[in-house]
Amino acid sequence: MSTLTHSIEEIKNKLDIVDFIGGYTTLKKMGRNYKANCPFHTEKTPSFVVSPDRQIWHCFGACQDGGDVIKFYMKWENVTFFEALKELAVRTGVKLETSEVEDHTWQKKARMFEINALAAKYYNYLLVNHKVAKVAREILEKRNISDKLINTFQLGYAPNSWDSLIKFLTKKKYSLPDLESVGLVIKGDKGSYYDRFRNRIVFPLKDSRGNILGFSGRAIETDDGGAKYINTPETEIYHKRETLFGIDISKESIRRSESVILVEGEFDMIACFREGVENAVAIKGSAVTRDQLLVISRLCKHIILALDADFSGSETIKRAIKDAQILDFKIEVAVPKNGKDPDEAFSINKVEYKKILKNPQNIYDFVIENTLAQFPKIDAYSKREIADKIIPFVVFIENPIIKSHYIRRLSQILEVDENSIQVELTNFGRSEEKKTNKKFITEKPVIKKRDELIEQHVLSKTFTSEAIDEALEKLKQEITEDDFTSNVYQKIFHALIESKERFTAQSFAKLLPAELQEAYDQLFLGAMEIPTSDIGDFDRTLLEMKRLSLKRKIRDLIQNEKDDNLKRVQELSDLLSSVEKRLFMV
Ligand SMILES: [Zn+2]
Repeated sequence: MSTLTHSIEEIKNKLDIVDFIGGYTTLKKMGRNYKANCPFHTEKTPSFVVSPDRQIWHCFGACQDGGDVIKFYMKWENVTFFEALKELAVRTGVKLETSEVEDHTWQKKARMFEINALAAKYYNYLLVNHKVAKVAREILEKRNISDKLINTFQLGYAPNSWDSLIKFLTKKKYSLPDLESVGLVIKGDKGSYYDRFRNRIVFPLKDSRGNILGFSGRAIETDDGGAKYINTPETEIYHKRETLFGIDISKESIRRSESVILVEGEFDMIACFREGVENAVAIKGSAVTRDQLLVISRLCKHIILALDADFSGSETIKRAIKDAQILDFKIEVAVPKNGKDPDEAFSINKVEYKKILKNPQNIYDFVIENTLAQFPKIDAYSKREIADKIIPFVVFIENPIIKSHYIRRLSQILEVDENSIQVELTNFGRSEEKKTNKKFITEKPVIKKRDELIEQHVLSKTFTSEAIDEALEKLKQEITEDDFTSNVYQKIFHALIESKERFTAQSFAKLLPAELQEAYDQLFLGAMEIPTSDIGDFDRTLLEMKRLSLKRKIRDLIQNEKDDNLKRVQELSDLLSSVEKRLFMV
């Protein structure tokens, strides 16, 4: 065993997968396994399974992905294998011989972070020290952004030049394609390169560990035809949909306060921080994406939307609330009384806006009040419109008590009985579901045949049985190799009868060839749903598998139509009827 493989084993031995994953998400014990709502995609019914026997996890939902404790950490922290290994080694106190590891993905990412870090330094230096940044500094001063804040957020200034960053970074021995890979330069039609950010205040966009993923740049002159804000394009490290400005700085405060304040823009986030509201992050736009919600859900389960004053009722907010409901977030709203956004609200009346942030309003009360305010007179016509505006929000409330509270409230406002509201909700919910299903249809996993599912179930039940010796004995008594339709399960079964050792989950894994490992792991992860519910217990499942196998054999013999088959058909039919009799008895 190489020293690296040895270290990996040591790390895995020191981390129990149930404890480890349980530290990130709530696991519920189900039989021998643990289940949870998958932390990597949004879902209502848990399809994320952890097997303590095999020390592995798997998502049977949209992800269709799984692995060991290291793989979980890679996915959770969005890091490469090598990064995960290094960090887990520190955590477990295992000494890692890093010199023998060549991790190209990691090296490439590290190089991209390095370039971004240098660019940020360069921009920051210009903003703080250089006369070309005079106007930029004035803009920031007007917005109450001190030198200290400039340095905390590493704000910078990209000069009005086509190649100043190129000159700076190529001197540091980075190639033009390197710079293009992080989106800092653009390749023109004639193959020449130029700086992407010019004459802009730049904000480094970081991940929660402080790595710079990309930049956003705000124009100095807003009337020169260019966009007010431009961003780094999608790169290997920058994905707009998962980025939250300020997360590196607010992370700890979000954890401590168990809540996050979502604002729209960079300046709003910085203003919050300046005024001592330290748990804010900016979503950079008016839409909260699913990926952003997933990042947040790892820190807290309480969102306060402190978006611009005009956000209410927008489609994106509706979608965000729906996703947030699925992820079990509590959502509240804080709308500024004065000023169009948090930045302005702070500068008009600090004390008042802080109070608003401290006492946010329940999202549903907010939606109802906001809608009612648009209709000074309530008549039959406006009732219809009010219902249409509010129902899309109420329909996604998961908690039945909260839901019935709002159904009652809506029925009082509209002066109709609760049942008719309920009917509206059901209709709306159905049409929404259709839309959602259409979207996800491509993500559905391949459906296994019933025969194969039952074979899987039999092996799964055997391996995870509390009385493993007894289960193995029964299995060997009833089933033979030719009872399997699945080649993979047949091979696993074959290995099982060949094995002379006493069965344990780990020792048997070592006997299996590499190509069977995944299927073996799957057997531990789940006694999967079987198309009929009446064959739940082990004995019945065994007999059902035998019954299906006998029926297949008889059908094959009959189709072959040979004379000497008849006797065999008779034998098998007798066997079949005895199995069916026993199935009836158990
Ligand atoms: Zn998943």
